[in-house]
Amino acid sequence: MVKTMRGQARITESNVQDMLREVRMALLEADVALPVVRDFIARVKERALGAEVATSLTPGQVLVSIVQKELAATMGEGVADLNLATQPPAIILMAGLQGAGKTTTTAKLTRHLIERRKKKVLTVSADVYRPAAIEQLKTVTKQAGGEWFPSTGEQKPRDIALAALDYARKHFFDVLIVDTAGRLAIDEALMAEIRDLHATLDPVETLFVVDAMQGQDAINTARAFKEALPLTGIVLTKLDGDSRGGAALSVRQITGAPIKFAGVSEKIDGLEVFDADRHAGRVLGMGDIVALVEEVQKGVDIQAAQKLAEKVKGGGDFDLDDFLAQISQMKKMGGLSGLIDKLPTEIAAKAGQADMDKAERDVRRMEGIIRSMTPLERRKPELIKASRKRRIATGAGVQVQEVNRLLNQFEQMQTMMKKMKGGGLMKMMKRFGG
Ligand code: GDP
Repeated sequence: MVKTMRGQARITESNVQDMLREVRMALLEADVALPVVRDFIARVKERALGAEVATSLTPGQVLVSIVQKELAATMGEGVADLNLATQPPAIILMAGLQGAGKTTTTAKLTRHLIERRKKKVLTVSADVYRPAAIEQLKTVTKQAGGEWFPSTGEQKPRDIALAALDYARKHFFDVLIVDTAGRLAIDEALMAEIRDLHATLDPVETLFVVDAMQGQDAINTARAFKEALPLTGIVLTKLDGDSRGGAALSVRQITGAPIKFAGVSEKIDGLEVFDADRHAGRVLGMGDIVALVEEVQKGVDIQAAQKLAEKVKGGGDFDLDDFLAQISQMKKMGGLSGLIDKLPTEIAAKAGQADMDKAERDVRRMEGIIRSMTPLERRKPELIKASRKRRIATGAGVQVQEVNRLLNQFEQMQTMMKKMKGGGLMKMMKRFGG
């Protein structure tokens, strides 16, 4: 059923080739720019070749873990908060294309700085081309609890910035955030203007705001802004959308600047400190990769269902392999929607919110977690203690808590299975199928 590459002590050119092809596809699907993908694959290959494979692991599992680590490292390790270590007011200059989310992010940062870092924050808009943008900043700054400095379309961006700075100094603001004009595409006049603002203000933070949904285009935008300005950080917006967020990898690699924040909703509190480890799992669609690496059979396997039924009926133990088989079966039997309410886990609760996509993703994550376990661990889940949990979590690209949660769910299912000895299982499987 599950084909593994057990028994090979090293990752070799031949067994790594197919797996790297899958990783490459996943990255391209996640909209990581092609040159960035090439570099990345080359680095992973170099690390993977000749890597020792512990006897308890398959080369696939080792490779996935290398990929995961390299991805997280490429996107920046640890978290990078705003640098405010300067004579106040600390100036933050916002750069990016129109629509990237600069104004929204300015308000989110204002809220973040007030609530988390107890700062007194002033905002100002240097977007003299769009009076509506100035008004928008006024509105959202108020919502965020900050103070807004007025500006008009008749002023020069540099004069606006200097007036705001003067005001901020006189009124003892800790932080001044300067929102700037964006265009729909890169143009020289725009770049000259923001360069001038940078020279005038000498900001401690110059944040490049980029829309995660921009996908492949993000690379050109990032390059242009990097050439114009010494960027100190990136804010990746609209990560709540469908995109797998591959732009994070491209933008980070091109600019060399750390990704500091992620925008996750239109609302003022929709800002998160960027977490590279977590994001790595998303970019890869880890569940997919691991599944491909191990090649689980396709299609509903009625025989397997029967075998499982008989095993439980005959007093056999319901183990994690069976749990995995069941999750896979359920997925194949007409997707999740038909059987979601019958699942004894929190997935069912989620379906109640009609959040199918999330539920599907959760199932994929569960699969990814179980596939990161060794056969022995799957048979004897009681062996899975702290250090094994950590290894499994790394392999699957999830947090240790998720491994815990899965083990709890498994236990619930196991209890239910015990109660159903005596023929109930086959009926249940049929019901799922129907
Ligand atoms: P600007 O032109 O760069 O100032 O961009 P705006 O701040 O005006 O944002 C453009 C649009 O993107 C607005 O409709 C925002 O509500 C939306 N937006 C910004 N950040 C996010 C985010 O993180 N998630 C979502 N869903 N929408 C966002």
